[in-house]
Amino acid sequence: MIQGNEFNKIIIYGAGQAGKEVYDIYGDAEVYAFCESDSSKAGSYYCGKKIISIVELLNERLYTIIAIKDPCIAAGIKTMLEQKGITCNTYNEMLDEVQLRLEEMTAHRPLDMNIETINSCPMKCVFCVNRKNTRIQNIMDNIKFETIVAQYAELWGGTLGIGSMQSDFLSDPILLKRIDVIRRLKHKLWVHSTTPLISAEKYSDEEFAEILSVFDYLEISAGGYDRESYNRMMGVDAFDIFSRQLDRLRRLIDEYKLELDIDIAFRTYDTEKCRGSDFYNKISRVFRISEVKTSFFSWFGSIDDTELPKGANLLKSYNSGRESNCVVPNATLAIQSDGRAVGCGCIDWLSSYVIGDTSKQTLDEIWNSNKAREFRNAFTNGILPKICSECALYTPVSVLRNIKLRDYTSMDGLYYFVKAR
Ligand code: SF4
Ligand code: SF4
Repeated sequence: MIQGNEFNKIIIYGAGQAGKEVYDIYGDAEVYAFCESDSSKAGSYYCGKKIISIVELLNERLYTIIAIKDPCIAAGIKTMLEQKGITCNTYNEMLDEVQLRLEEMTAHRPLDMNIETINSCPMKCVFCVNRKNTRIQNIMDNIKFETIVAQYAELWGGTLGIGSMQSDFLSDPILLKRIDVIRRLKHKLWVHSTTPLISAEKYSDEEFAEILSVFDYLEISAGGYDRESYNRMMGVDAFDIFSRQLDRLRRLIDEYKLELDIDIAFRTYDTEKCRGSDFYNKISRVFRISEVKTSFFSWFGSIDDTELPKGANLLKSYNSGRESNCVVPNATLAIQSDGRAVGCGCIDWLSSYVIGDTSKQTLDEIWNSNKAREFRNAFTNGILPKICSECALYTPVSVLRNIKLRDYTSMDGLYYFVKAR
């Protein structure tokens, strides 16, 4: 029976995957026990907690979460428990609450914002439009940058990306000034970016450590595992620089005791050779490898299959007829280096769908404008922007229906990062 302060604890009905997810959310201190309908499991342990029988559950009379993904089975158990006077909720009802809460949130603010401080990149990746870049190089004015970041911190705060998928923030000639801006507002920001790392070469140890110190998360693109494979994927002969900078990154994190999370994302045309290489094995001992990717998207038809090395391929998704909105514009407000906001920061490198302009509007005016809402709701409205029609990055908003996002706030970091942890 319950002792003293254990009245606030919960019981998780279902010692399986869903049960583990609920356990991770509530944490060890709040979980009293698991329950299984199969009484032969009673007395054993799951996630370090005792498994009790239904009879024991009824005796304890604690709030119970039915962690069973099948909605019909869960509903049946719920009815049975409620008839016995047990207050309970199902896993699916919890997901409904998560979805509702996040929908209410994104009706008023993005989950995160990304600012492209510079619109170019020194790499020429075979799978990237940057190789065919026709944009006039632009570097965001730092007063504009400061105004946008300060407004974001003041209005909403939370996850802030600098850089975009078509540029590299380390190439920004006034990056150290941006870092000063971010540092002043850091208490209201969770900062991240993606980089091929090469441009770190131009910074001294002190400067690079200063840059790294404002970041919470960095994804490093590793385009190969040796000089040849790197050159073929990244389009530049820079494997040695990359390797050197990775070593330096590790050293600086240790020397300066920096608290930033790092993922290494390999892009390759030969997964087996990549995973078996000395380089991969060396890197995986000191950094987390998030993926080894051989499939790429086409930047709305800008890249052709024939341009990729054998072993790499293009992903295509035919999105016409999909009824669920894409999560990308519903989660992220994307500001280009000229200060304009685009509907989709992931892919709209040519600013085809501008939804606002930070020179003329505040961030909340942009997010709540008709243009922005139209873009966010394009799929449910059945008016698909051209850039979405075969975009392999399409992800339905239902990905937000995840129990790990139950208490999510933008200060926790990128929602997909939180989901993956
Ligand atoms: S590093 Fe990124 S932005 Fe630069 S060319 Fe490669 S994919 Fe494009
Ligand atoms: S489908 Fe692609 S282009 Fe359209 S919003 Fe989603 S990620 Fe962006």
